[in-house]
Amino acid sequence: MIPSVDEIISLPQIKKHYENTTHHNIVECIRNVLEDSRREIIHLSDEQISQYHLSMEKILLKIDEKLIEKRTMSLRSVINATGVVLHTNLGRSPLSEEIKDALWAVASEYSTLEMDVNTGKRGSRYSHIESLICELTGAESALVVNNNAAAVTLMLSALAKDKEVIVSRGELVEIGGSFRIPEVMEQSGAALVEVGATNKTHLRDYEKAITENTGALLKVHTSNYRILGFTQLVSTEELVKLGKKYHLPSLEDVGSGVLVDLASYGLSHEPSVQSTIAAGIDVVTFSGDKLLGGPQAGIIAGKKEYIDQMKRHPLNRAFRIDKLTLAALEATLKIYQEEENVIKRIPILRMLTIDKDELYQKAQVLKEEIIRTVGKDFTVKVEQSFSQVGGGAMPLEQLPTYVVSLQSPKFTVNQLEEKLRRFKRPIFTRIHKENILLDVRTLLEGDNKNIIDALNLISNQ
Ligand SMILES: *Cc1c(COP(=O)(O)O)cnc(C)c1O
Repeated sequence: MIPSVDEIISLPQIKKHYENTTHHNIVECIRNVLEDSRREIIHLSDEQISQYHLSMEKILLKIDEKLIEKRTMSLRSVINATGVVLHTNLGRSPLSEEIKDALWAVASEYSTLEMDVNTGKRGSRYSHIESLICELTGAESALVVNNNAAAVTLMLSALAKDKEVIVSRGELVEIGGSFRIPEVMEQSGAALVEVGATNKTHLRDYEKAITENTGALLKVHTSNYRILGFTQLVSTEELVKLGKKYHLPSLEDVGSGVLVDLASYGLSHEPSVQSTIAAGIDVVTFSGDKLLGGPQAGIIAGKKEYIDQMKRHPLNRAFRIDKLTLAALEATLKIYQEEENVIKRIPILRMLTIDKDELYQKAQVLKEEIIRTVGKDFTVKVEQSFSQVGGGAMPLEQLPTYVVSLQSPKFTVNQLEEKLRRFKRPIFTRIHKENILLDVRTLLEGDNKNIIDALNLISNQ
């Protein structure tokens, strides 16, 4: 039953593929498709064989699909209808549209990456961004590495290798992807000294643990969990004071790194980087792609004498960020520098602070569009629900939102979820009971059209 490669390659339907790819790729793809058919046939019973029909149409369709798949980027844009704003698996923060040109100019042309245009001599890649970070946070000096995990590792290696670092037992954080404070500490060559209890740590616990081997005092923001009830943690101010008394650097990993006061928009309070610096901390580290809304990066800010030690450390070279990240980060921070409408211009801040009426309107618009185009094939409703901040930030925050819920008489909820997820521009949704939920909070401009296209395709299946 199986045709030969030659037979297929001479068919007129194959001609069109030569516009997009090479002869070699086409032949390889035909071989793969034929091999798949051979394997399918081998596993059929005699009875199944007698009813089996391998049509040329089916083969050609598979060839089309395979060749398209080969051309499609594996890493590509998707629609996030989950309502999880900082979805780590979907790339955390989408960048602001405004920074597009700055990013592409640096990416596609030569740049001032390590060149001082005033002297014509070699410059530092960090010079572009250091003063900007200092201006925004109030720090004396700053450095940027690949991510916050690298920032914490570098900070501990440079400042406390072969020394003891005191941390509260309530702050031995694990972040997804095997970042654990005790293990990072071990890698950096510093020895962890745990103090206090899980729920309560007092300043005297830190003080009692200080010895001549102590290298630093560390605070870690419990970004992705909260200990509630009978609790106490030492404040940044108190830790700073203790550090000063014993001439020890006070360090803090604040995790998300917010630069704006989100509490004034009704979200729970997260310590801002500025307030941590103002409290007198010697070094603070935070992520670029969490609540800051920039690219993946680890930002280190603080006293010059400590930042200088990190700049000179060999790990700094291993953790250094590339020009694309630098361009995206500088452009994002410039939005903060202008202050005007930061909340509107940084996509994740816009999503987190969007008001309920607007969410309701967005949900109504999507619902109407679905009903207008494919209404006969789905049951469509607007319902209230909750979105999440995600990205290991504000774990208790429940953001009231509106979702469009979908049901199909033809497909189960799991089938519908899979079909949407496997659309050419994948759509990620939530399943709740027997419904697919599309949370409009995390939808970006133009996403509605893609959702309609996908539903159109699905209803024609
Ligand atoms: C997220 C987080 C990290 C890890 O940051 P990445 O930028 O993902 O490497 C470290 N510490 C805390 C407290 C965090 O919240």
